[in-house]
Amino acid sequence: MYWDKKAETLSRSSLEKLQIKKLKQTLKRSLRSTFYRKLLKEAGVSFDSIKDVSDIREIPFTTKQDLRNTYPYGMLCVPKEKTIRLHASSGTTGTSTVIFHTPGDIDNWTELLARCIFATGCDSHDVFQNMMTYGMFTGGLGLHYGAEKVGMLVIPASSGNTKRQIKFMRDFGTTVLHITPSYLLHISDVLSKEEKIDPRELNLKAAYIGAEPHSETTRKKLEAIYGFHAYNSYGLSEMNGPGVAFECTFQKDMHIWEDHYIVEVIDPETGKNLPDGQEGELVLTTLSREAMPILRYRTRDLTRICKGNCPCGRTHRRIARIKGRTDDLLIVGGVNVFPSQVEHIIMKIAEVGTNYEIHLQKKGALDHMTVKVELNSKMFSGDIGFLNSIREKIAHALKDEILIRPTVELVAPGTLEPSMGKARRVYDNRKKL
Ligand code: AMP
Ligand code: ZN
Repeated sequence: MYWDKKAETLSRSSLEKLQIKKLKQTLKRSLRSTFYRKLLKEAGVSFDSIKDVSDIREIPFTTKQDLRNTYPYGMLCVPKEKTIRLHASSGTTGTSTVIFHTPGDIDNWTELLARCIFATGCDSHDVFQNMMTYGMFTGGLGLHYGAEKVGMLVIPASSGNTKRQIKFMRDFGTTVLHITPSYLLHISDVLSKEEKIDPRELNLKAAYIGAEPHSETTRKKLEAIYGFHAYNSYGLSEMNGPGVAFECTFQKDMHIWEDHYIVEVIDPETGKNLPDGQEGELVLTTLSREAMPILRYRTRDLTRICKGNCPCGRTHRRIARIKGRTDDLLIVGGVNVFPSQVEHIIMKIAEVGTNYEIHLQKKGALDHMTVKVELNSKMFSGDIGFLNSIREKIAHALKDEILIRPTVELVAPGTLEPSMGKARRVYDNRKKL
């Protein structure tokens, strides 16, 4: 099911021609900001030199720091009276990065989300409960507009107040959720333990999960708990928010809308472009943004461009599930570990519940990792022998994957701080010592 069949199935050559045309328009537009005027002049980039999409490599990268340095209006390319909305990134430290939108920007963003929703087989027959936070964060309003566009009945629930959320799901017969995977896991606990409701008895058929990294095993776990399809949704405020890349019904990697973004993957150390299939840092360029075009934005997200066509017929390439961020990488005793690797392993273990935390501390001169894991309420038992065997099973499986053997602390279901938005998984106490 396509929302915009022509755009979604354009031949690769037409798509590339369109990208070049839109890239030139974007460059022209970007010159209206003091920031890009200086950057492009210094780099000696001229429109005539852009003949091929790969010529984009002549353009220097834009970083989050650039957005901070030009805060608030230094990258704006239209007069302020032409903008109608701003959003900010969810980061809690430092100056926030702010993105401005014209009415045209909001329309384009909405179109992309309509494509994503149709790609998951959902439409105006669905009742859509949007449990991402509304406000400066893009998760709430972004999907909201797309869902209305396709004619869904939208419940703008925002995040939090779990019991009320469950009441909405039951009263209105919600069929589709938009939510962070960590909050969705938490809700399953509340459903079964406090409300005594089997999540499978709800009317849910799909969930759009995103805004934070999660593993394939977490997705499978969620699908088994709720009996629905969970679709991975990727986006970032600098590129609008949700709607940048989304899974289709084949649930095999995320289509990235290449008529609106140029996608590159680079080696984060050298900045050199990597071939399709190789993992590195995702770099994105807006092709439609009017108020604030962004060229070659270093997302810090680690992924790869997937090879091969998708059976759904969409010609836009796909990116793999995000492994983590370059700045999420933990170096523990010299070994590189991504939190997503830990999650991937522990969520496979049936006795594990829905929440976990990674704590790092120094023991003398050495780094030490403790993984706190909530037990599954259905299998919870106070039997010491049982607990020791689970602890051993988890530690062993982790050692196999990440090459270090953490201390595993088992805790009762509901002990760890639940997350209603983006979950905090890592507590690094090493620097404080
Ligand atoms: P924000 O700009 O606040 O919306 O945050 C965007 C960041 O959230 C991205 O750069 C990613 O690091 C993360 N993110 C968003 N969606 C996903 C996803 N589906 N999987 C993994 N990380 C995600
Ligand atoms: Zn597909």
